[in-house]
Amino acid sequence: MTAANSPAPASNFIRNVVDEDNRSNKYGGRVETRFPPEPNGYLHYGHAKSICLNFGLAESYGGVCHLRFDDTNPTKESQEYVDSIVDAVRWLGFDWKQHLYFASDYFDIMYACAESLVKAGKAYVDSQSADEMRATRGTLTEPGTDSPYRTRSVEENLDLLRRMRAGEFPDGAHVLRAKIDMTSPNINMRDPAIYRIRRATHHRTGDKWCIYPMYTFAHPIEDAIENVTHSICTLEFEDQRPFYDWLLNALADAGHFPRPLPQQYEFARLNLTYVVLSKRKLIQLVDGGHVASWNDPRMPTLSGARRRGFTPEGFRLFAERIGVAKADSWIEMSVLEECMREHLNEAAPRRFAVLDPLKLVIDNYAAGASELCVAPNHPFKPELGAREIPFSRELWIEREDFMETPVKGFRRLYPGNTVRLRHGFVVKCVGCDKDADGNVVAVHAEYFPDSKSGTPGADNYKVKGNLHWVSVAHAYAAEVRLYDRLFAVPHPGARRDGDPEGVERDFIADLNPDSIRVVQAKLEPALRAACAEDRYQFERHGYFIADRFDSAEGAPVFNRTVTLKDSWSK
Ligand code: ATP
Ligand code: MG
Repeated sequence: MTAANSPAPASNFIRNVVDEDNRSNKYGGRVETRFPPEPNGYLHYGHAKSICLNFGLAESYGGVCHLRFDDTNPTKESQEYVDSIVDAVRWLGFDWKQHLYFASDYFDIMYACAESLVKAGKAYVDSQSADEMRATRGTLTEPGTDSPYRTRSVEENLDLLRRMRAGEFPDGAHVLRAKIDMTSPNINMRDPAIYRIRRATHHRTGDKWCIYPMYTFAHPIEDAIENVTHSICTLEFEDQRPFYDWLLNALADAGHFPRPLPQQYEFARLNLTYVVLSKRKLIQLVDGGHVASWNDPRMPTLSGARRRGFTPEGFRLFAERIGVAKADSWIEMSVLEECMREHLNEAAPRRFAVLDPLKLVIDNYAAGASELCVAPNHPFKPELGAREIPFSRELWIEREDFMETPVKGFRRLYPGNTVRLRHGFVVKCVGCDKDADGNVVAVHAEYFPDSKSGTPGADNYKVKGNLHWVSVAHAYAAEVRLYDRLFAVPHPGARRDGDPEGVERDFIADLNPDSIRVVQAKLEPALRAACAEDRYQFERHGYFIADRFDSAEGAPVFNRTVTLKDSWSK
């Protein structure tokens, strides 16, 4: 059984922790989580896993989940990213109520915490250079050595810290470090830096600060300020947990925060085949012009997913299905695509679209005449009603639905064969026209007037082929973008057999050259009225969405979300 059809997990280790905390009444039944993005890029599919987990936990335990911008690093952050993140979380359908926070709003408290540590003899100002600090840090197998500045007095440390804040020193001249243990087997406990001098304009606090807290110092404080109970992060922070606990206990001792303190839990990040899920790499795709923008429908960003036609429901289903584990693993892209199909199959009305048009002439149908055929909008949801499709003498059919000389097993149009034009008439192919080069330019057929779908005689016709079609005179001609996977290989940038020794493969070289194909399609006329973000199944082709930015009223253009079947599995 694959992950795609296994039942949704009833529980996971984080739910077990929450259940236990509720049982022991650790937090008085309170469940407060947070999703803490750094606004230094757009959110990607991996973040959706974290969002669904954090907001989902709060939802199911009657708690709240905060949306907190972890904006403590001024150089890479911007309001554009903040806005895109707000949009993405809301689009996924989650609500932080009044709990929208910015870590930069806590800079004063963080600074006060730093002074408290100094006063308690738990932090000191180090004046070694960055190189010296690196050299004395030790390695995984060797302990570090104490800085010569480690024994500075509380008064001297406090004075230096205040002057760092006042802007008396150049960038890099001093660093505030926690005073823990330079011989700890955990390198993160070897007197980690907690404040550095950095003259940079912050997108929210402007030039108020010239010292900024390090992420590992800021994050636990943010959780404590907000009274978070369960602070859930990805596995790479596991080694930081001892510092998280050390810091919050030191600050609780100093009276900054009440106990019980927030507790950190780590889960395995989402690794997904055929994409890259790292903001650093996504920025390269945008800046290098390999995609049109952050919200290019091929991008594994949530804004790209939205334009692509992926659905919030599909992401939630995906998050349920892949579950939450403690060990890293890879998830197949087909699992995500299948979740989208599952939701879209329910939600998307059906329409006819001819993507590679070839003309079919019904020789025995009067020129200039037309009539309406009735087609249900959804095969198993009668409540979605039906629409009318005009039928006339000249129709567009799919080029691949005709073969002058059929291969074995071909059941569609070829001279002498009979097929049903779906929701319309049964027709018999009588031949084709070709140009001077032998290319088929039109197919000819005759229709059976008593074979119209939905009329009493229709069932007398037994045919093997069932084709979609669009009347030439009534067709809505539109641009349709056929999107496919962004990368051609499951693990972009990973070494492959035959790669030269010692040379890293560039993930850009693994881009799929066929990730977009734009066609001029012939669509059934009802599609002309589609609004931006309306979703459809184009029968036999896949799921499509009217592009939210490029569609005009009465002139939608469509993006392919996903094909009906996985064409990538071997
Ligand atoms: P990236 O690795 O893409 O640069 P990040 O971890 O630096 O992302 P943040 O803005 O810090 O991005 O992430 C916000 C939250 O999303 C964090 O709690 C982080 O652990 C989580 N997160 C990031 N990537 C993934 C992923 N692939 N799977 C699950 N959660 C993720
Ligand atoms: Mg990261």
